[in-house]
Amino acid sequence: MVPATPRLSWAERLYLPEVLRGIAVTTRHFVRNLALHILHVVGLAKDRRAAVTTQYPEERKIYPQGFRGAHRLTLKPDGAVRCTACFLCATACPAKCIHIEAGEHPDPSVEKYPVRYEIDTLQCIYCGMCVEACPCDAIRMDTFVHPRIWGYDRTDFVESKQTLMTRSRVLAERGREALMEEMLRDYREDEAAAAEGR
Ligand code: SF4
Ligand code: SF4
Repeated sequence: MVPATPRLSWAERLYLPEVLRGIAVTTRHFVRNLALHILHVVGLAKDRRAAVTTQYPEERKIYPQGFRGAHRLTLKPDGAVRCTACFLCATACPAKCIHIEAGEHPDPSVEKYPVRYEIDTLQCIYCGMCVEACPCDAIRMDTFVHPRIWGYDRTDFVESKQTLMTRSRVLAERGREALMEEMLRDYREDEAAAAEGR
């Protein structure tokens, strides 16, 4: 049986009262948040939250264990990149955002290595297909940090082989929190540099 369509009252069919009610709610939140932000700037009412959105990266939610964060390239025990530049991840990537340039390794026991390995995080959809496709566990997304979330140019969002390898080093030596601290430090430094350049 098809459920009966709820009938609107005469006042509801005018729409105007509901539109005004919506504007009033939005305005109330706007004024409240603006006032709280101003108070926070002068050091007052710090215990009262100004906005309901999470102020990432300063604030973070607790992520589930399966969270797919920023990528990293895993390392061999000697610190070299584990990737063999086989292109399986780039082939599996539905967003076509992995760019690899393969090179001959000076060590004859290593067939190939990535001279360049880049991920365009503006195109990435964080599906994890690259991780699934890799036959040698050379790429992971277990960092629990987001990729770069700020930038002034498209190229700022392209993560290089060095960036991806450094994540593995920091993770092994100092853990996930250190990865987040490094990201926040870079963020603040770039923000300060940009503010000085204005
Ligand atoms: S997570 Fe998905 S979209 Fe992103 S690089 Fe890997 S395969 Fe490509
Ligand atoms: S990360 Fe894995 S799948 Fe991608 S090129 Fe390197 S070895 Fe191949």
